[in-house]
Amino acid sequence: MVQGTLYIVSAPSGAGKSSLIQALLKTQPLYDTQVSISHTTRSMRPGEKDSEHYFFVSKEEFREMIGRDDFLEHAEVFGNYYGTSRETIEQVLASGVDVFLDIDWQGAQQIRKKMPQARSIFVLPPSKDELDRRLRGRGQDSEEVIAKRMAQAVAEMTHFAEYDYLIVNDDFDLALSDLKTIIRAERLRLSRQRLRHDGLITKLLAD
Ligand code: 5GP
Repeated sequence: MVQGTLYIVSAPSGAGKSSLIQALLKTQPLYDTQVSISHTTRSMRPGEKDSEHYFFVSKEEFREMIGRDDFLEHAEVFGNYYGTSRETIEQVLASGVDVFLDIDWQGAQQIRKKMPQARSIFVLPPSKDELDRRLRGRGQDSEEVIAKRMAQAVAEMTHFAEYDYLIVNDDFDLALSDLKTIIRAERLRLSRQRLRHDGLITKLLAD
């Protein structure tokens, strides 16, 4: 069995990362690609579901999980804790399925150290004006809140050069196609192809 690839996807809020991952999943069968569901201590937003968007847990439960070494990585992001649980990821990768992690730069750094074979992708918005427009959302937030979001977005973007791939999300369909191309290229790497086509290669090279 060829191991699945672990993909890390990071971006500032407003770059469209989650929409890209969701759109990608719709085009790929579950036996090929899955997205990891993180644990978080932040409160649920309207429209979110427990065990679907996140596993929503208390700070105490989160600390217990850290104590049991349950997390592959964990980080504090904007005052809340987020973590990727080790258990499912390792099982799913071993069954040959690619796994996507929608995590921040801190988590990405931890995963790279533990799993150097993971591939990382950074998503940028097309311009500062567009980012500002996306961060304003429905126009219900104060200028102070928006300025804080922009500062957080810039802080996240300063880490772009730590990643293997860079996608600029201007035209959504093009960005999605870029994401699919990265996955396709990774699946065509010699190290994976020679395992996948071991039987064929043996026959072709036999006298
Ligand atoms: P949100 O609260 O808006 O869903 O996510 C806030 C940020 O936390 C996003 O940048 C998201 O990628 C990041 N995040 C979500 N889950 C995890 C995780 O398990 N680990 C880390 N390090 N970051 C995460």
